[in-house]
Amino acid sequence: MQITGQMLIGTRDVEGTRAVIRAINPATNEAMDPPYAGGTEDDVNAACELAAQAFHTYRKTTLAQRAAFLEKIAERIEALGDALIERAHQESGLPEARLQGERARTVGQLRLFAREVLRGDWLDARVDKALPQRQPMPRSDLRLHYIPIGPVAVFGASNFPLAFSVAGGDTAAALAAGAPVIVKGHSAHPGTSEMVGRAVREAVQECGLHEGVFSLLFGSGSQIGQSLARHATIKAVAFTGSRAAGTALMKTAAQRPEPIPVFAEMSSINPVFLLPGALAQQATDIAQGFVQSLTMGAGQFCTNPGLVIGLKSPELDAFIQSASELVSSADSATMLTPGIFSAYQQGVQALQSQPGLRRLAQGKLDEERANQCQAALFATDAATFLDGPHELGKEVFGAASLIVVCDNEAEMLSLIDQLEGQLTATLHMSDADSGLAGRLAERLELKVGRILVNGYPTGVEVCDAMVHGGPFPATSDSRATSVGTAAIYRFLRPVCYQDVPDAILPPALKQDNPWGIARRES
Ligand code: NAP
Repeated sequence: MQITGQMLIGTRDVEGTRAVIRAINPATNEAMDPPYAGGTEDDVNAACELAAQAFHTYRKTTLAQRAAFLEKIAERIEALGDALIERAHQESGLPEARLQGERARTVGQLRLFAREVLRGDWLDARVDKALPQRQPMPRSDLRLHYIPIGPVAVFGASNFPLAFSVAGGDTAAALAAGAPVIVKGHSAHPGTSEMVGRAVREAVQECGLHEGVFSLLFGSGSQIGQSLARHATIKAVAFTGSRAAGTALMKTAAQRPEPIPVFAEMSSINPVFLLPGALAQQATDIAQGFVQSLTMGAGQFCTNPGLVIGLKSPELDAFIQSASELVSSADSATMLTPGIFSAYQQGVQALQSQPGLRRLAQGKLDEERANQCQAALFATDAATFLDGPHELGKEVFGAASLIVVCDNEAEMLSLIDQLEGQLTATLHMSDADSGLAGRLAERLELKVGRILVNGYPTGVEVCDAMVHGGPFPATSDSRATSVGTAAIYRFLRPVCYQDVPDAILPPALKQDNPWGIARRES
């Protein structure tokens, strides 16, 4: 597929006229072709108007039509073949094998949402039949179902150029809900975005849908991204990235004449608790798994384990010794962008200059390549962490982690109370640790979206029971998940029909249940 450097607004290829963006190959710092000129207000208006028009018909597609569309997108992405992987590799520095896995996840989640759409139970149809004889008051016929919220603005993430970008989880969930999507492509991988965008557009056309169901814009986030979030036709925003950009979008959305929800996934340090029984049994194995999780993908995962907490003991010392050795021998890896690399270096530098923190280990450096993340491991005690600056509990995006040594359980619990909202918390435990693990889990439940035992937080399963969310600043809305089939609920809202004749009820609520979906009836 030829990439042209143009935006995709419905069926039109549009050349931007604002500042040009070029992908930078982060391994070499070389700028890549083609240039992508940024979009203007007119381009935002055009995409939004088309999306508003498309909403009228797209939201009424049958479950089978919508599922077929999601399947078709997956098929068209697969048809892009190796060229997509090659371009994504050049633009992101991520290894090809990782990107192949990410493509499998991308098409897998599109197909998962296709199956989800067909189930229809997410419409949560409820029927409370009329009770005309009820005393002292009769009851009306009441029927509830969920409808799509309206056009959604999706911001592609830098760290998942396929699975959380143009046709990633947010887009799949919104399209499954019946909402048209306008993607603001991430400036780090515009070529990858254009290729996938063209695949989605082919699917729109092959499925005979309104062209406004999907558009792809390029340009600066603070210009075109903000315009998109402000546009009256946009009814929700889905975002993965920095806390600064996520909170800027939350502010914009809240200040609109009609405020809208923002589902922003921003920052998390994913605490890992090492309990005494587990350490006594397998301190070195846990260290191995931990360092693998820490260094995977240069640590550029929202679920990266950036904080480790244990009770002072010879077993914890053994873990620290082993983890330090493994970090020291870890190869460096290319980070996604020069900007992310520089933010990582600053974050590590800041930790290094904190009084009371020791740097335990630093990974190797490949001097032949640019933007190399060297893993870094630090340690401190609970008193320093609890009394220290808030920065100690903030995300350093990359392969850096801080081990906090506690004197007792009370310090562990205080540390949990001090943490900001997190995507995950992990407990390494044996049967002997059950009592302590239970007390920690009870507190952690209030801070995180997912609690896991004897595993590692990276590697998020896309399934029905996944929660990839959590209290602020992990996300902007702790009631939602951005991974898994429950992500569809972000783009739906309930409507109740009271005493509405069957002829004009939507299919999900008609008397004879023509879609044959599961309904709650009384
Ligand atoms: P970013 O700077 O937040 O950018 C993400 C997207 O938001 C880009 O499309 C960007 O546009 C746009 N944007 C930036 N500022 C905006 C604003 N004021 N209003 C509206 N949109 C705006 O994130 P990044 O470039 O991917 O990475 C930078 C940092 O984000 C990392 O170092 C890391 O700390 C964090 N991050 C966290 C996660 C996570 O999952 N927790 C994932 C990725 C990144 P342009 O850049 O094109 O202008």
